[in-house]
Amino acid sequence: MSKKYTLPREVSYIIDKLNENGYRADVVGGAVRDMYLGRELSDFDITTDALPEKIKEIFHGVRTIDTGLKHGTVALHINGENYEVTTYRRDGDYLDARHPASVEFTSSLSEDVARRDFTMNALCFNERDGITDLVGGIADIDRRIIRTVGDPVTRFSEDALRILRALRFSSVLTFGIEKKTAAAIHGCRGQLLGISRERIYAEWCKLISGDNAYSVIDEFSDVFSVLFPMLSLKLPDRRNFERAGALARMLSLFYLGSDEPALAFDTAMRSLKTDRATRELGVSAIHTAEKGAPADTAAVLRSFARVGVPATELGAELGLLVGSFGEDTVKLIDGAKSSGAPYRISELAVDGRDLLLLGLRGEEIGLTLSQLLNLVIDGGCENERGALLNAIATLH
Ligand code: ATP
Ligand code: MG
Repeated sequence: MSKKYTLPREVSYIIDKLNENGYRADVVGGAVRDMYLGRELSDFDITTDALPEKIKEIFHGVRTIDTGLKHGTVALHINGENYEVTTYRRDGDYLDARHPASVEFTSSLSEDVARRDFTMNALCFNERDGITDLVGGIADIDRRIIRTVGDPVTRFSEDALRILRALRFSSVLTFGIEKKTAAAIHGCRGQLLGISRERIYAEWCKLISGDNAYSVIDEFSDVFSVLFPMLSLKLPDRRNFERAGALARMLSLFYLGSDEPALAFDTAMRSLKTDRATRELGVSAIHTAEKGAPADTAAVLRSFARVGVPATELGAELGLLVGSFGEDTVKLIDGAKSSGAPYRISELAVDGRDLLLLGLRGEEIGLTLSQLLNLVIDGGCENERGALLNAIATLH
């Protein structure tokens, strides 16, 4: 473990400055875990024995964001990035399965580490002291194991979101879950019902994107049932699942696990407070897959016209994933896309004004334009002004 780790300049600056003022500071949590694993680093959390007011005093020239101040966090805004500096904390008793009733500051790093969720997330690092591992996190990372800091049932009962975090990390890092921790996940799964839906959805999205998602969902199907009580879990072919994107993976669970997958997906996404665009895209993709594979380019263009290109493509990805579409459908869609053939009324060589001049009114105009579009898509007429105006006489 003599490997040399280096921190971004801004992080070293923060740590050095705290040191100069007589305080200890370390990077903590996910950044140290990912650094040790050689993974790409995202956010740097810094933990220190300096109290929030002191941190603000030491960095008086730096823009700070105080939204987390109550919890001991001062965010320092340096070179366009935020760095969260948090005073060592000891969580008080938990009010519910998520919020500690009180937060107490402490000068003990080991107390701060003890409140963290998993041993791999309880590592500290600074360039002066190297890695500080007070809970056996390195040994667990080396064995690729997720283990709670302290008794798992207690820790999951304090904050049930940790259940999903464990599964998410297992999925993303391809780590196993230590036996007692896994047993506690099964035992405490009901407490997930008390967790905010948005937080559940955020973890769920990361979970389903991970390399190990298939095994995690399979092994923790009982947790999955708490999240999605409307589904009876049926997993698709593993290789197809692993090749697919996150949203198609998610849709496949609804497609196979419900008699009314579009309705089930819509209900689940509403209850998880998912954004409307994702919900509508998913519902259209399910309908697209249910219609069966498009037979020819015209059918693809009609689908583009009806639900749009993204939903058509996602529907095909879903069809492929559940085994009802073949690879040829993807080729057909790519071909239709690159052909530049029109599939929107706005792409027609005539518009509403032309039809007004011909004496058409109100609803007739929209109807005629969509009939013309269908004619063009089906190859019954060139998308050319003269040809389209002539064709109007043949429509009824
Ligand atoms: P990510 O890669 O998603 O950022 P992370 O482990 O850094 O993973 P964060 O949500 O950024 O996750 O949290 C930073 C650290 O705070 C964690 O590594 C962990 O030490 C602690 N932590 C976060 N959430 C919890 C929780 N629910 N319970 C206990 N400790 C937590
Ligand atoms: Mg993080």
